[in-house]
Amino acid sequence: MTITIIGAGIGGLTLALCLHERNVPCRIYEAAPQVEALGVGINLLPHATRILSRLGLEKRLAEISVETQELCFYNKYGQFIHSELRGRFAGYDWPQYSIRRGTLQEVLCDAVRERLGEDALVLDHRFVHAEQDSKGVTAQFVSGEDEAPRHGAQGSALVGCDGVHSAVRALLHPGDGPFRYSGVTMWRGVTRWRPYLTGASMTLVGWLATGKMVIYPIRHDMAEDDCHMVNWLCELECPARYPDGDWSRPGELGDFISACEDMRFDWLDVAGMVKAADLILEYPMVDKDPLPRWSFGRITLLGDAAHPMYPRGSNGAGQAILDADSLATQLSSGAGPEEALTAYESARLETTSAVVLANRTSPPDAILREVFERTCDQPFTDISDVITPEEIATLSEGYKRVAGFRKTDVNEKAAST
Ligand SMILES: Cc1cc2nc3c(=O)[nH]c(=O)nc-3n(C[C@H](O)[C@H](O)[C@H](O)COP(=O)(O)OP(=O)(O)OC[C@H]3O[C@@H](n4cnc5c(N)ncnc54)[C@H](O)[C@@H]3O)c2cc1C
Repeated sequence: MTITIIGAGIGGLTLALCLHERNVPCRIYEAAPQVEALGVGINLLPHATRILSRLGLEKRLAEISVETQELCFYNKYGQFIHSELRGRFAGYDWPQYSIRRGTLQEVLCDAVRERLGEDALVLDHRFVHAEQDSKGVTAQFVSGEDEAPRHGAQGSALVGCDGVHSAVRALLHPGDGPFRYSGVTMWRGVTRWRPYLTGASMTLVGWLATGKMVIYPIRHDMAEDDCHMVNWLCELECPARYPDGDWSRPGELGDFISACEDMRFDWLDVAGMVKAADLILEYPMVDKDPLPRWSFGRITLLGDAAHPMYPRGSNGAGQAILDADSLATQLSSGAGPEEALTAYESARLETTSAVVLANRTSPPDAILREVFERTCDQPFTDISDVITPEEIATLSEGYKRVAGFRKTDVNEKAAST
């Protein structure tokens, strides 16, 4: 049985490593001519780092990321609302990492080439079509601007890990609609900046109507001038500007700086940090309604191709990694490919659909929404008059339960395959 994987993003590369761990042959076909370190920061929660650690990647990831210590909430006046420990600092058996997306992709890519061989990753192959029969699946590819046809690939099963613009999803669901715009646009960037708070704090400030910031360091090793690489996002309610979901669209400071111009706190000069950015990108917060089905015979979907979700709650990459582990388990179970893909869908579709919906209505930053609404966006005198610790715990634990990363749930899972 050889598995054809479409897309060398976080999900596709992790799937290849999980299959290799279980002695299932596979090959990845990637549209890009080379794997470039694209994207800014993401967070990996312990439910995902558990799997990456089992794959032997923890030491490398620890070297090139920041082990997140706490998640803190402030209003736009810089008043402290709440903080909670994260990852190992909170008693999980596995860490939470804040990391540059492209760096994570490179680590996974190196591991694939090292373990599966150079031939396992085929670049410059954009998937365009697949046909299946009782014996297997044949995938068709093109390359370059002239879309020259490439040799097809034969496999026992094909997995679409080709992200938010998935061609495999379009093949399986030809009537699939456009993205659903949340009403929020995100400007994302990275800045070399001095450490703030613990030096490993993920910080959420303000709320969407007037501007919300998400800030966390993703790299420590810039010791020569005592700087971190700090990732930040400004999320702002506004009409749809470019609702096409292009992760690499450049952003303009002037389009959003007014939202954080007054955020100059004694613990961080947010506006100053944003203005000093090395890179600014713009991305609409978009998703799609959950699909009723991913698996059609020998073809299935994984990661963003299966369940594009709002990138809040640190679950986009994490759920793709959980999908990969689940699918590899099924494909190595001894069942035929069609049965394995059906079992994978049963294990993962309902869970990830719940995360897509929770990211719309009750993500972890709902704590900020509650404070914003209850104070009518004014400063408060005492936070306990606004929201109780029990209410905060309910919001926080509720999201962890849906997304599958409550401490007891993660720690109880054995680290073995
Ligand atoms: C360039 C880029 C930058 C990103 N930056 C961020 C970020 O800063 N923050 C964040 O939270 N998330 C970001 N993401 C999304 C994040 O990587 C995913 O949400 C998450 O990791 C799930 O991974 P995935 O493997 O499902 O999809 P992705 O990581 O998006 O990987 C999809 C892969 O499929 C390839 N592909 C697409 N179409 C085809 C095709 N027809 N044939 C073959 N290959 C194809 C793509 O080139 C890509 O390598 C980014 C994604 C991309 C592609």
